[in-house]
Amino acid sequence: MRFEVSRVMDTIEQRLTTDVTLAQAVVDLAEVARFVALDGGRPINLLRLGMVVDALSRYLIDAGAMLYPVAGREVLSEAALTSKERMVLGRWADDGLIEVTPVVADRPVEIADFTGLPLIVVRDVPQFATRFPWLVDSPERVLRLVPRAGGAVLTPGGEPPPPNDGKERLVVVGKATLPIIPPEPDSASASTKAATNVETTAEGAAAAEPAADTGAEPVDKPAEPADETKPAAAAAEPEPPKGGQPDGLQSFTARGAQRFGRTRVVRRRFTRAEPSGVGAALMAREWQCGEPDCPAFGRFRRIGQPVPRMRAGVPACPRHGEAVKDVGPRPAAFAVAIVVEDLARRRFVVSQDHPIVVGREPADPDDVSVGAWLHEAAAAWIAKEHVKLAVDGGKLVVTDTSDNGTVIWKRSAPDIKEETERLYRKSYRLDGWDSVELYTGVELVVGDHRLQTIVGSEPASVLLDAPTVALRLVD
Ligand SMILES: [Zn+2]
Repeated sequence: MRFEVSRVMDTIEQRLTTDVTLAQAVVDLAEVARFVALDGGRPINLLRLGMVVDALSRYLIDAGAMLYPVAGREVLSEAALTSKERMVLGRWADDGLIEVTPVVADRPVEIADFTGLPLIVVRDVPQFATRFPWLVDSPERVLRLVPRAGGAVLTPGGEPPPPNDGKERLVVVGKATLPIIPPEPDSASASTKAATNVETTAEGAAAAEPAADTGAEPVDKPAEPADETKPAAAAAEPEPPKGGQPDGLQSFTARGAQRFGRTRVVRRRFTRAEPSGVGAALMAREWQCGEPDCPAFGRFRRIGQPVPRMRAGVPACPRHGEAVKDVGPRPAAFAVAIVVEDLARRRFVVSQDHPIVVGREPADPDDVSVGAWLHEAAAAWIAKEHVKLAVDGGKLVVTDTSDNGTVIWKRSAPDIKEETERLYRKSYRLDGWDSVELYTGVELVVGDHRLQTIVGSEPASVLLDAPTVALRLVD
């Protein structure tokens, strides 16, 4: 059991960051670790942070969603935690994966204000609305963590919690034919794209736009995530209602000749607001703490920086409290998501200092592999080092280094008709809602510019190895 919990902690760890470019939501770590209503267990439990990661994943429909946790210093030595949990917390703090600060107070709200990130809360925080009026004026920026069926869901502020009947109602489940095009070596062409992009529906629309039936022969789902994700997928499979399936569904499943997928159409959801003026000014600069070993603003930090805390009008280190020094402009950086079959799988950062090679199997472990999500034909098509992403002149630039080329999807806005350009052994400067396709259905998308639709699969839980939690999740 200890081994399994360690594995879960390692999995959770990969989804934590204090890099403001990479993070997708901010949360008070201790508040959720003490949120007993999530599982009815111990007074404090670090695994609950995994429930938040899962809830964020489901909210964003992003299997690689990244969380920015803030922890009060006293949590690191909390006696009610297991020694293992304290050790893990200490490691996360040293690696800058969580932010440690003497007093949490309004720090998570401040980070949300400075960066525009959504704020995850267990309870409302009206006491901070004087400094941050958007807590009242823009309730959608606050995501409330609500216990649900042994796990948790996030509910945007101002909305009533979804009905607690043990099933999620956050997505509309369609019954369209799974529009997957048989992989062809030459299929990285414009004609296939329409099949995988389903229109998003307006806020609250109940009618799922079925995926366009392309008439293509359905094939086995090409991009299956790793095996351990299967229990979650199975758990989320719509259960047949007691007393028999409705006629429509029955006729679909009885036929059996065709493969049907679940088309999930989500409402447009809040993902990120504009940073506040102070936040934008702070994030434009690189800061240095007087403590050389500082995990937040020290010299040895390997990931992108957080944002300083403002103390009496002075930017200060959240960890050490002293003023941080402005050491120049912050290098431009972009978050990029690997989107396979319309589900984001992993996020990474490309910065001016750190170009990233993406491919099936890049030689450098610091580069990014898409190998885990490829079916045979895609794996044969995508080169070991397929493209290089770099930042030049404040823009993200992609350079094709493959044998088969890369397709650029050009969009100046999310709903605009797309144009494509084939890239072969040359560079292209990404703009607007452009994306990069390595192979049909294997895409690199900038920031949160994913078209919010998913066909056929959903994020797996980070808690699958946790004995008690996993049992609850698949109940
Ligand atoms: Zn410091």
